[in-house]
Amino acid sequence: MNTHYWVVDEGVDNLCEHPQIKAAAQLLKDQQVVAFPTETVYGLGGNAQSDDAIDRVFQAKGRPSDNPLIVHIASRDLVYDYVSTVNKKAKQLMDAFWPGPLTIVFPHNGTLSTKVTAELPTVAIRMPDHPVALAILTEAALPVAAPSANTSGRPSPTTADHVFGDLDGKIAGIVNGGPTGVGVESTVIDCSGEVPMILRPGGLTKEKIERVVGPVDVDPSLIEEQEAPRSPGMKYTHYAPIAKVTLVEGTDSFFQRQIDKAKQEGLGVGVLVTEEKAGSFEGVTTVTCGTRDNLASVARGLYGALRQFDDHGEVDVIIAQVYPETDIGQAIMNRLRKAAANRIVVENEE
Ligand code: AMP
Ligand code: MG
Repeated sequence: MNTHYWVVDEGVDNLCEHPQIKAAAQLLKDQQVVAFPTETVYGLGGNAQSDDAIDRVFQAKGRPSDNPLIVHIASRDLVYDYVSTVNKKAKQLMDAFWPGPLTIVFPHNGTLSTKVTAELPTVAIRMPDHPVALAILTEAALPVAAPSANTSGRPSPTTADHVFGDLDGKIAGIVNGGPTGVGVESTVIDCSGEVPMILRPGGLTKEKIERVVGPVDVDPSLIEEQEAPRSPGMKYTHYAPIAKVTLVEGTDSFFQRQIDKAKQEGLGVGVLVTEEKAGSFEGVTTVTCGTRDNLASVARGLYGALRQFDDHGEVDVIIAQVYPETDIGQAIMNRLRKAAANRIVVENEE
């Protein structure tokens, strides 16, 4: 398949009128799949009312079909077209955080493809906060299911180049609107119970959510490994780079000892650290993501950094720093733990 490739300047006026946006929207109307930027990561969009389009999304990504997709809409009120009820807390969250990196799980009304919802009685919906995404959604006038635009199992794409590397020739189009701002996926929340429950930590922090709806729970499976996740997708080892990742919590000299150990085993070692530590470790491939005093910058750089190790080719193991699990640090650590398949070495526990 010949993949159309467009570059769109997100700053221009009247994006909907731009031929690139119109062409991308037309492909969606023709049940083709198109990658476009959102504020979190690049999404791979397909018409959420079309089984054919959704088949194409799953096929291009190689994603297991029991992992439901998030439906993206162009304005808040469109949610009522696809769900049976919006309760008070869900409404408060929509009003406070849409457009934005918050996905809400609702009981659906049966109007979307059952392939989007993996036959569940619920559907996950959000309104993205990115001018290019909103222009495409508005112009297509469709609900658009859009998982991250990567091959399943690879880190999510935060640039159009990442999408190109994974999906060129497999999808109808890629809209390049520059690097994404947040860098990790949306937070997924279920408001159907008495207390809302975060099913996946993401771009909107628990702290911000609690300021609007009061205390929320976090899916126990995110804390206790043996619990079955309430969000089907969380059981998969997402975000895995090719090299094996180990998280290390401790002093620099402890970090260095882990490096030395791996090198003694003859392994190519990469380290994933913040910019402050760029020159701290020798004989290793260092990739940095953001600065420690700005966790948002770490989130923004995380997936690109993991991909750099894959591209480098000579790294067998990645030794990565850990981050405080507050604010966006919860999403960062959730993704790093998954990338590391929970391998974490703690200094005083050795
Ligand atoms: P992705 O499309 O890769 O950003 O992943 C979407 C996430 O939302 C996955 O973890 C899904 O399991 C989750 N999700 C989608 N729909 C639902 C739903 N109806 N109930 C619970 N979680 C959902
Ligand atoms: Mg994904």
